[in-house]
Amino acid sequence: MNDLSSVLVEHKIIGDQIVEVARRLYARNMLAAADGNISVRINEHMVLITPSGVSKAFIKAEDLALITLDHQVLYGKASSERMMHLEVYKHCPLARAVVHAHPTTAIAWSVAQPELTKLPAECLSEVILACGDIPFVPYARPGTPAMGSHLIPFLPQHRALILSRHGALSWGESLDEAWRGMERIEHSAEILWKAQQLGGLTSLPGEEVAALREMRRSLGEKLL
Ligand SMILES: [Zn+2]
Repeated sequence: MNDLSSVLVEHKIIGDQIVEVARRLYARNMLAAADGNISVRINEHMVLITPSGVSKAFIKAEDLALITLDHQVLYGKASSERMMHLEVYKHCPLARAVVHAHPTTAIAWSVAQPELTKLPAECLSEVILACGDIPFVPYARPGTPAMGSHLIPFLPQHRALILSRHGALSWGESLDEAWRGMERIEHSAEILWKAQQLGGLTSLPGEEVAALREMRRSLGEKLL
């Protein structure tokens, strides 16, 4: 099988998986209008990515675009936010998939409390165990190279990130891992928001947080 035909076979299988994740994001209210994008690195040179300017809830596998890691568009109308995806693949050799969405509660935290450097999640053992810290990446003006470059200090050590006043991004060694990261970000942000409404955030004791962080280290780097 030559290189192009193997790419097309991969495109169909992975394309269907990307479409499925897009629908899940839409169903979870993490996408409005043409927001968000999903990509999968299908080999060491090429990335399949969702198209720009369309609702991701209604895309089909054949609407996806193919780009190279050095930023050439091979076919399709690749997402205008592809620089974020390419920076992840460049700085995270293990990355196979990137999910970017606009989860409302996670974004709201960055708007209401811009002084925070990470989601205040040390009161939740699941967050520490599943992904460690969820940092806030500083604001970047849409469509500028800063969208990609602002991610760099957080890579590869973070796989689940909130993009201040914009959205969230997660990456993984599989599309399933990247999806789980996005779901974890918004679920954690919702719990913390509700806790704050109910009387305020409390923390676990310092030694418990330290023990959980040690468990996280022993579990490895994948998002759980
Ligand atoms: Zn976005």
